[in-house]
Amino acid sequence: MGQNSITCDTKTIQKMKEYYNTYLENTPPYAVFRAKTQQAAITAYQSGKVLFQGDKAAEEARKWGGDTHANSKKKAAKPTHEKQPPSTLFQANHIGSDESGTGDYFGPITNCAVFVKHEQMALLKEIGVQDSKTLTDEKIKELATYLVEMELPYSLIVLKNEKYNELQSKKWTQGKMKAMLHDACIKNVQAKIQQEESSGILIDQFCMPHVYEKHLASEGRKLDPHTYFMTKAENHSLAVAAGSIIARASFVQEMEQLSDMAGMPLLKGASGKVDIQIAKIIRSKGEAFLSSIAKIHFANTKKAKNLL
Ligand code: MN
Repeated sequence: MGQNSITCDTKTIQKMKEYYNTYLENTPPYAVFRAKTQQAAITAYQSGKVLFQGDKAAEEARKWGGDTHANSKKKAAKPTHEKQPPSTLFQANHIGSDESGTGDYFGPITNCAVFVKHEQMALLKEIGVQDSKTLTDEKIKELATYLVEMELPYSLIVLKNEKYNELQSKKWTQGKMKAMLHDACIKNVQAKIQQEESSGILIDQFCMPHVYEKHLASEGRKLDPHTYFMTKAENHSLAVAAGSIIARASFVQEMEQLSDMAGMPLLKGASGKVDIQIAKIIRSKGEAFLSSIAKIHFANTKKAKNLL
């Protein structure tokens, strides 16, 4: 069941009440009115919040200026910034960049930037390029192979665990590692497409742009002025979606190799199940072995040692 909420002034809420006049139900506490139509249940609160619930909640909210993607749970005001992409970027030639593996105890961080031209977008959509998080590993591998065969200009960098742990011990935050990976991949792609017209670069946002810029500056790098940041960018940009697929496919492949080294199929994520697996590995291979297959600063290492 869908759920959307918008905030309205009292005038609009009165207008709504009139509009839903024939559908009014008992008014719950703190509410101005409640109505139930075929489309949705609508509850307007004294706070100005109006809640739409039901299969057509988004459609109903939109009548009143609601954002169709809005979900009341996710709608907590996010700090915004000036580097949001113009909506024209998604259809124009552009570079998209995304990473994978940052939340997984085992395995590297992989990052991929891809250049996609306007005329390639229909095909990418057709073959099912979308957010890698919604695809199975098999589908990701298949799509990544296809993308590579299409000869899209791309750059993939794998930050292996040894290097990750070394940088981490030098006080690099994961945010800085990610920023430098995005930056390096983008630079590589730009070098490949010199002649091509590009409307800009879109990074799947993992931190505020000024923080990203600070990381770059700490390594003597500057942000390209046509760089944009957006959360969930893979849902809007086929270039970011393509990057997320290649990065994920690489992560999956790396995990298969590390699993062979560890002698067991390594788990993704960083749950309690992972702690148990880590303990097993420490028993069979020794703790030092972890630094070549895992992000050892994660709290999981300590928790696993408590299990020994
Ligand atoms: Mn991402």
